[in-house]
Amino acid sequence: MLPFSYTRAADGDAAIAAGALPGAKFLAGGTNLVDLMKGGVEAPQALIDISRLPLAGISALQQGGVRIGALARNSDTADHPVIRSRYPLLSRALLSGATPQLRNAATVGGNILQRTRCHYFYDPGFQMCNKRNPGSGCAALEGHNRMHALFGASAHCVATHPSDMCVALSALDALVRLRSAAGERAVAMLDFHRLPGDEPHIETRLVPGELIVSVDLPASSFVKHCAYLKVRDRASFAFALVSVAIALDVREGLIHEARIAMGGVAHKPWRAFGAEQLLVGAPVDAAPFAEAAGAAVEGARALKHNAFKIDLARRAVLRALRIAQS
Ligand code: SF4
Repeated sequence: MLPFSYTRAADGDAAIAAGALPGAKFLAGGTNLVDLMKGGVEAPQALIDISRLPLAGISALQQGGVRIGALARNSDTADHPVIRSRYPLLSRALLSGATPQLRNAATVGGNILQRTRCHYFYDPGFQMCNKRNPGSGCAALEGHNRMHALFGASAHCVATHPSDMCVALSALDALVRLRSAAGERAVAMLDFHRLPGDEPHIETRLVPGELIVSVDLPASSFVKHCAYLKVRDRASFAFALVSVAIALDVREGLIHEARIAMGGVAHKPWRAFGAEQLLVGAPVDAAPFAEAAGAAVEGARALKHNAFKIDLARRAVLRALRIAQS
């Protein structure tokens, strides 16, 4: 590991000022960043510890939504009474991720910013990785790409985003609130992560020094009919081959609104908007579910080793719709 400085930020302004300096990184739970530093993938010159900032609260908003502080721990968020009662989809997604020990340390902001688990990215022994070493190529394109993307990939990177939480947040139309020296702004969760294009090392809309301060969820009508299904190689402590977040607003037997988001299939959580539209006005029934599941994987493009994920994703959407139905 290369030398770096460590500073514990006294307040938000100090954190933002220090975080804007070249080579600086914010440190919160550290569950991903510290691993990447140990492996020689990341080498920040300065760590700005924000873990003591007062950003861990979870509170109901006047308009009926909820605000989750960026430093709320994943386990605390999943178990919070407001999240469990009003956003069970988010609670289930969080509990499907990592291990209890990691969820006790990992924060909501850090979860959003966690980096791909592409094995070529994690191993500096491989020279070719445009994400780790811009302009070097992509070893996964012709290499082992069983876990990689079906949607939105480019010739420069076929990695996927590993978060479960972000899949649920995308389905729930969350807003990510950001703060910098220039003030505050909010970015829709759906737009927060970028597709790889020709700059896969730039993964989000954050600008240098900008700090995630919270995630806002709008009032939800998806309490009763929702499901988070994660398909992976082993039952725990594994990243998704495919995950699916389903949220249905059912009124008098008809689907008033539908949300379908998938994880493990793209560089960002992937909303299946076309499939959602097919469900609007449809009865809660097998035929529209099957049609929507088929539509959810339209446009998928397989690599050498991951063609199986297309049908896996279709089946996962179908199964998650059935779970949400009950
Ligand atoms: Fe690197 Fe992306 Fe290629 Fe993986 S898929 S080797 S992260 S450029």
